[in-house]
Amino acid sequence: MKPRRWCSISHILLLGVFAGFFVFAQLQSSCKAKSPQPSAVSTPIPPIATSSPSVSPLPTTIDSPPVEEGKFRQPDLIELVKLEPTIKLDVRYATSNNFVGRPLYTEARAFLQRPAAEALRRAHQKLRQQGYGLLIFDGYRPWAITKLFWEVTPPNLHNFVADPRKGSKHNRGCAIDLSLFDLKTGQEVPMPGAYDEMTERSYPTYKGGTAEQRRTRDVLRAAMEGEGFTVNEYEWWHFDYKDWRQYPILNVSFAELSQSPEKSNRPQPIASQAGRS
Ligand SMILES: [Zn+2]
Repeated sequence: MKPRRWCSISHILLLGVFAGFFVFAQLQSSCKAKSPQPSAVSTPIPPIATSSPSVSPLPTTIDSPPVEEGKFRQPDLIELVKLEPTIKLDVRYATSNNFVGRPLYTEARAFLQRPAAEALRRAHQKLRQQGYGLLIFDGYRPWAITKLFWEVTPPNLHNFVADPRKGSKHNRGCAIDLSLFDLKTGQEVPMPGAYDEMTERSYPTYKGGTAEQRRTRDVLRAAMEGEGFTVNEYEWWHFDYKDWRQYPILNVSFAELSQSPEKSNRPQPIASQAGRS
């Protein structure tokens, strides 16, 4: 009897192992089938996966801007609406209406280094003849915010954000995110994709959207290129000023920029501005 009972127990155990393996295999195959599918979102265009995920995850030890060798020009960040009051602001990072979903800036302000700010003003003035003005989403961005963007963005979408180990041209006060507004209505002009949208609609070469959307996107690009800015290859709204290499990466808060010019010229930590907590 003993051997028989042992035999039946071992059969039950064996059946259990097979059943467990079968369930595990099913779960595995269903996870693999689901993982490449985009989540249920309204956009018909799936997020773009990078072909070469060569950038390793950000080490948690990076808590300060990269140290750069060489000589840089003295920073001279200018508040855009003080230079040109008819420029419009829509600083999304000072609101919850951004890809992070919460305010990152404590103040809705936009700055650029003086030569870039003056070039932007000229572009804005020339656009008047075509019935448009410039609508600014973001200019100078403290380094701590660039680091936060990198950390909250999935690795396959890292081509839409700057690597904090290298810093961003926004950190140098030489990059601007912007669109157009209609001078008659004051409303933002529709573009082929939305600001900070992480799909191919954001590419300045995207062929979709309406002909009018592509036209206004190209009007913005031509106006900016005419004043020494270059469009980002992934973002129709992002432009770099030609002299960006001449300026250092900064980590100064907007509030500190309003203080003495000497203080604003020194890279400083801005822990108080990076998020709510
Ligand atoms: Zn940008």
